Amino acid sequence: MSGMVNYDDTISSSVTSNELGIVLCKYCSSMIGTLPTNGFKKLYGVCDSEECQGENRKGNGYER
Ligand SMILES: [Zn+2]
Repeated sequence: MSGMVNYDDTISSSVTSNELGIVLCKYCSSMIGTLPTNGFKKLYGVCDSEECQGENRKGNGYER
């Protein structure tokens, strides 16, 4: 334990290279954000646009 590595610095400096996970809106395909993941990952979510939020509500409310 020499304390030569500051944990916070380690995180912030490695975040950019580790942000391989991308979150896309499943309706308009716009990129919502990135996630620090191990390896490339594509995730789908819903962006903040009213259209997509509406679509999402419709989709969830659709009777199965
Ligand atoms: Zn969208």
